[in-house]
Amino acid sequence: GRPRLRVGLVGQGIGPSRTPAMHEAEGAAHGLDYRYRLLDPAAMAPSPDLGELLDAAERAGYAGLNVTYPYKTAVIDLLDELSDAARMVGAVNTVVFRDGRRRGHNTDFWGFAESVRRFLPDAPLDDVLLVGAGGAGAAVAHALRTLGVRRLLIADAEPQVAERLVDRVSAAAGAALARPVTDMAAAAADVNGIVNATPVGMAKLPGTAIEPDLLAPRHWVADIVYFPLETELLRAARARGCRCLDGSGMAVFQAVRAFELFTGLTPDSDRMRATFEAL
Ligand code: NAD
Repeated sequence: GRPRLRVGLVGQGIGPSRTPAMHEAEGAAHGLDYRYRLLDPAAMAPSPDLGELLDAAERAGYAGLNVTYPYKTAVIDLLDELSDAARMVGAVNTVVFRDGRRRGHNTDFWGFAESVRRFLPDAPLDDVLLVGAGGAGAAVAHALRTLGVRRLLIADAEPQVAERLVDRVSAAAGAALARPVTDMAAAAADVNGIVNATPVGMAKLPGTAIEPDLLAPRHWVADIVYFPLETELLRAARARGCRCLDGSGMAVFQAVRAFELFTGLTPDSDRMRATFEAL
C-alpha cells in the first residue's frame, strides 16, 4: 500500500482551518496515505492537557504536529530541541517526532518571509511599521529582519509587549534595529511599509489597527489576517493605490514548509496554494 503518514493540528477554534486540506491534497499528490487531523483539546472529553496530547500523538506514530493558538509558546517546554527560527521567534508552530526526539520549528517565520519575497519582491524595506507584537508578530518581525529591514518600528496595544519584541529583534540583529512606537501618525509618516499582525480585521473582530487615513500611496501594506483575505485595512490601502500583500501567502507557505519537515519531500507550493484558494 501507499506509505502512511499521520499528522495533526493542535489548537482551539481550528474547525475552519484550511491547513488540513492543503496537507492532505499534497500528500495524495505524492502518493502518500496522508491524514491530517484536527486536535482541539477543549473539544475532547475528557480534555487532555497539551503534554498528554503530544504523548498520545507520538505514541500513535504521528510524524509531527502543527501547533496554533493558544499553545505556540507553552509547547516549547515539552520539546527536546528547537530550530534556530523557533528559538529566535520564541514560538513553535511545528513539531517533528523523529527517533524518539521532539524538535520544534517555526514555519510562520519562513512563511511570511517567503510571501514577501514572492509577492512584494521590489518593496522598499528601509523602514517598516509592524502593528501587533504577539506570537505571529514575533515571527513577522524576525522575518522582516532577515529580509533586510533597516529600521523596524513596533506598535502594540500593550506597550510592554512591543518593548519585549523590540529587545529580542535588536538582540538578534546585534544592533538597535527595532524601536517601540505609540504615535501611529508619526510612525506611518516615517516608513515605506506597514504590516498588520494584530487580529483586528478578522471577520469576528472588524475594524483596522491602523487608521486608514494614515495610509499613503507610497506605502506597501501587508495584512497577515486571512479570514477574510480582503480586510478593511487592505481595502482602504488598495483604494489609495498602495501595493498590498494579503495573509494567504503566509498561510500557504507555513504549510509548505511544515509539509517538507513532516515528510522530507519537496512540496509544490503552487499546488498547495491552489488547494487553499479552492476552499
Ligand atoms: P496574539 O494574540 O498572540 O497577538 C496579537 C497582538 O496584537 C497582541 O499583542 C495584542 O495586544 C495586539 N493588538 C490587538 N489589537 C490591537 C490594536 N488594535 N492595536 C495594536 N495592537 C493590538 O495573536 P497572534 O497569534 O499573533 O495572531 C494575530 C493574527 O494573525 C490573528 O488574526 C491570526 O489569525 C493571524 N495569523 C495569520 C497567520 C497566517 O499564516 N497568515 C499566521 C499566524 C497568525
